[in-house]
Amino acid sequence: ARRALARLRDVPAETRDGTRILLQANMELPAEVAAVLESGAEGIGLLRSEFMYMNREDVPSEDEQYHLLRELIERLGGRRLTVRTFDAGGDKLAPALGCSIGPNPALGLRAIRLGLARPELLETQLSAILRASAHGPVRILIPMVATVEELRAARKMMDSALARLIAAGLPVSDPPPPLGAMIEIPGAALAADSLAAEADFFAIGTNDLTQYTLAIDRSDEAVAHLFNPLHPAVLRLIQFAADAAAKAGIPLCVCGEMAGDPRYTALLLGLGIRDLSMSTNNLPMVKQRIHEIDQGAAELCARAVMAESDSARISALVDSCHADGR
Ligand code: PEP
Ligand code: MG
Repeated sequence: ARRALARLRDVPAETRDGTRILLQANMELPAEVAAVLESGAEGIGLLRSEFMYMNREDVPSEDEQYHLLRELIERLGGRRLTVRTFDAGGDKLAPALGCSIGPNPALGLRAIRLGLARPELLETQLSAILRASAHGPVRILIPMVATVEELRAARKMMDSALARLIAAGLPVSDPPPPLGAMIEIPGAALAADSLAAEADFFAIGTNDLTQYTLAIDRSDEAVAHLFNPLHPAVLRLIQFAADAAAKAGIPLCVCGEMAGDPRYTALLLGLGIRDLSMSTNNLPMVKQRIHEIDQGAAELCARAVMAESDSARISALVDSCHADGR
């Protein structure tokens, strides 16, 4: 079976009726790039850049980040890299950033909030990413966006970093990298139509979207059995964000764990999602699943699921769509 999965590597991900799906990898450290290429990923849909700040005392300099990213981009050989700016704080502490644990870390000073509160950190990172963008296709993704203002502030920072680099005679990609928002806070999903007017793309993070929608700490074993991305509230938020992106004509990727679970693939395709990013281990399984799916049947499945409001019945429907090989 392993060999059969390996053979899948160079085959494009396409449903039985020819709907093309983009399969990308989630990645934490640039050293994982060999595994990413081995999995057949068409790009990196989520580089969790905060890992570059972890397990060290100091903050990586602009040059250090630039060289790491440049090497990664070169290894990717034209495949697209989506770099998420540091999502530190909360459950992802980086002592180098001087994060303290607030009374409720999941709701505290983290991700883009931290980046805007400590602009020198975010500016340094944005400059490194922009310099690296001269070497291959790059997108910049902002984590934990809750408001349009945060996205505007990030774009302003990116634009001034860009102007500074150009004035210094350093090469950057032309046009500059698209700037996107993670949709992982329920309020951002509900306001996705307003965010879509300012974002170049969306990436739905189903891990945090589920955590915040259901008020279930994703790292707490005591409530792990209640963590359910098939809760109708989570699915409605995903659908709303996907519809808003489609209406605004911006690309959307799903990059939480849900994207890497073949049980959910037909549902996501049926909701109109064409771009999935997942851990490399899951990628061949999801690709195999996509080959079995008929897009029309997946849409019927999604319609039936979205008409349900009972989690148990939703699970049963999702299982039966999966078992029917549709
Ligand atoms: C998510 O929240 O779903 C996500 C993809 O980001 P992370 O798991 O890094 O928080
Ligand atoms: Mg997240």
